[in-house]
This record gives sequence, structure tokens and C-alpha cells, in this order.
Amino acid sequence: EGKWGKAVGIVKEFEEKCGTPASKLKLVADAMTVEMHAGLASEGGSKLKMIISYVDNLPTGDEKGIFYALDLGGTNFRVLRVQLGGKDAGIVKQEFEEVSIPPNLMTGTSDGLFDYIAAELSKYVSQEGQEFQLPPGTQRELGFTFSFPVMQTSINSGNLVRWTKGFDIDDAVGRDVVVELTKAMKRQGLNMNVSALVNDTVGTLAGGRYSNKDVIASVILGTGTNAAYVERAQAIPKWHGVPSKSGEMVINMEWGNFRSSHLPLTEYDHALDADSLNPDFEKMISGMYLGEIIRRVLFRMAEEAAFFGDTVPPKLKVPFVLRTPEMSAMHHDQSSDLKVVENKLKDVLEISNTSLRMRRTIVELCNIVATRGARLAAAGILGILKKMGRDIARDGEKQKTVVALDGGLYEHYSEYSKCLANTLEELLGEEVYKSIFVEHANDGSGIGAALLAASHSLYR
Ligand code: ADP
Ligand code: MG
Repeated sequence: EGKWGKAVGIVKEFEEKCGTPASKLKLVADAMTVEMHAGLASEGGSKLKMIISYVDNLPTGDEKGIFYALDLGGTNFRVLRVQLGGKDAGIVKQEFEEVSIPPNLMTGTSDGLFDYIAAELSKYVSQEGQEFQLPPGTQRELGFTFSFPVMQTSINSGNLVRWTKGFDIDDAVGRDVVVELTKAMKRQGLNMNVSALVNDTVGTLAGGRYSNKDVIASVILGTGTNAAYVERAQAIPKWHGVPSKSGEMVINMEWGNFRSSHLPLTEYDHALDADSLNPDFEKMISGMYLGEIIRRVLFRMAEEAAFFGDTVPPKLKVPFVLRTPEMSAMHHDQSSDLKVVENKLKDVLEISNTSLRMRRTIVELCNIVATRGARLAAAGILGILKKMGRDIARDGEKQKTVVALDGGLYEHYSEYSKCLANTLEELLGEEVYKSIFVEHANDGSGIGAALLAASHSLYR
């Protein structure tokens, strides 16, 4: 019983350290707004890169023609083909294929990665049906969604700042990813023009806007996390380029890199931070890390409180064995004897003979970690709404504000997404929350890239 008490103590302490009362979240949101201003004021002015996307016009619905898109996220990449009908006809036809990235290519060479991508794209193109054939003499056009920090130099060029999400390919850093992709396509004999290079947040914003005029920001909750929003061009002091015709500019925040002394960090977060590349905010919020945080807590419980018996289960020592989809399955277990938790512990961690109260404790851990992540994501969104002046009710105005959300974590982890919405309501208050809509923009990032390729087409 002393050991059980010790294990419970570890969980309690962890829960306290993970606490996110509204007062704390408001400080986080304010800090986010401050950093946004600083990142817009000067290059390198903040941890938030606030990258200028060169997208100053979002889709209108008039886009027309056949376009390809390539969406390179963290785990998978997708190739898409869409036929846009023009003037309110919407998307006439769309097709996609998902391909996973061999792990060895994630830490190899630039040519290795881009050759693989170009080869898969080429395979996909060769299967195009009659209805997708382009007029003779025209080149196929592609929107490239690349979900890593890129310093854009135009709508279709930009240099990789650094890798995230487990990618680490040294010779690609600092290079123009469109040049790399174009060279690889040439090597494959694939004749295609990259018309737009977009971050997944920017793609999601574009895709969201195409179907809903009130979309003004987007958030990705997948392997990693990031956000984009529509800024007034005048509010971007660091922008010295060609003035935006629309008076607006989409900003890719790269908010995964956000830091603040108000973040509820624990010893497990510090240890995880020391062991890997990416920064705190992303690690507390996104899919790549949530399961890993739980593994670390369970490991300590096993070691210090013999939670799983006299020896530490060997699997528990393996970093990242407990993945977020498994965590979410355990968290959502509705069976009275927590059968799913039992099976996951067996299958993933090779731990059998767990008692019901042990399994309950594990569900509690899932809840603590998911709740902290979802509430911090909500605080980040509040930061954006504040920056845009959409966090207060305006008398007589019936302005709607829609934030487009996408990513595997948001889509599949319903406890997480529910908590995010509830927290946003808690922070904004019932009245303001009536005008705020958080919507799932399914696959917006790929379609958005195709839409932006259309509005920046060679044949406009
Ligand atoms: P990417 O971020 O690589 O573009 P996705 O948006 O598809 O990819 O998100 C994939 C991530 O979503 C996975 O790495 C995982 O963390 C998370 N995820 C996928 N399925 C689930 C699930 N059932 N429950 C919780 N998280 C999930
Ligand atoms: Mg993605």
C-alpha cells in the first residue's frame, strides 16, 4: 500500500504542475499577443518567426482549372489532383493518394528525400484519367504544402529554416525547397511547375476560406502544431517588399516555437526538451509528444513506486513507444473494466496483469496530459483573436469569426477537441463565444495549396 500511495503521489504532483486555470491561460494568451507584435516588428524580434507567406489574396471561388498539390507533413505525404470549376462551381472533382515516408529518408540527404517524393508524384501523375488531361502545350501546376519553417522569398520560393517533427536532413537546411523539388522532378522526367509554396497552416486557411468567407485563422494540431491568420499589411513593420494590393497578408506564425514563463512545465517536459529538437509549446500540445510524456511519467512510477511490480517493464524504457493514437484509445475507453487500456498495455508496453485501479490511474494520466495540451492550444487561439481584435463583443456588429482547424490529433482525439472548444468558451465568455466558430477544415492544407497554385497560375 505504501508503493501505491507513492505512485498516486507522483500522479498528484504531476497534475498540480500541469494545472491550467483560466487566469494562467489568459497570461499565456497575452504573452502570445506580445510575441506576435514583436515578431512582426522585426526579423528575429521574437521566438515567433511570424513568417510572411506572400499570400495576400485568399481564394475567392473564381479559381478554375486542373491543379496538383503535394502535402508533406510530418508522417505522411499526400498527392492530390483537383478540378476547380470556377465562379461558384466549387471543386468539380478531387482525388488523392497518401504515401508514408520511409523513416530512413527523414534523416538522410536532401536528394534522397526529394527524389522519393518526386518519384511518388510521378507515379501518381502517370495514373491521371482522361478528364484530368491538360490542354496541349501547358505545363501541369503544383501547390506544394511543406509543413516546416521556411523563410519565404516569394509565393513559390523559400529557404528551409530548420527541421522539426523528427526530420533532420542537414544538407537541406538553408536551401530553397522548391528548387530542390524542381531538380528532383527533372531527374524523374516530370514536367511540372511549382506555382505556390505554402505552409500547411496557410493551405488550411486558404482551403477554409474557399468554403467559408468568415475564416480568418487556421490552426494545425497533428504531428506538430502551428497557426496562421490574416494580418493587416500596415501592422507588419518588418515587411519592406512590394505593398500588398489587398492591404492584407497571411502570416505563418510558427507558434510551435512559442515560449513563455507562464507555461506549466514539469520535470518530464524539461527532460523531453533536453532529449530532442523541438521547443516547449509544440511538445505540450501536439501529437508527436503527448504519448511520450505519459511514458515518462509511467517510467518514473515504475522505477520509484514499483507501479508495475518489482521490475521496470523493459518496453517502458523505449522513447516514443507509447504513441498518441494509443493514448487516445485508452483515454476514450468506455468499457466498465477498461478493456482497451488493458489491451493497449499488453500490446504496446508488454505489461499484463494490470488491476482496474492501475488502469484508472493511466486514464487519469491521459486526461491530465490531453487537458493541458488542449487548454494551451485554446490559449494560443485566444492570443490570435486578441491580436485581431476579435476577442470582444462589438455592439450591433454581427461579425462572425471562424477558425479552421485540421490535423490528425484534432480530428481523432475527441476528448482533446472537446476540451479545446470548452476552454475557448470559458476564456471568451458565453456572449463573445457566440460569434466564434471553430470548424474542422478537412484536408484543407492540400486543397488550399492547389487553390493557391490556381490563383498564382502561369496561365492566369
Ligand atoms: P501531419 O501532422 O504529419 O501532417 P496529421 O495531421 O495526419 O499529419 O496528424 C498525424 C498525427 O495525428 C499523428 O502523428 C498522431 O500524433 C495524431 N493522431 C493520429 N491519429 C490519432 C488518434 N486516433 N488519436 C490521437 N491522435 C492521433
Ligand atoms: Mg498535415
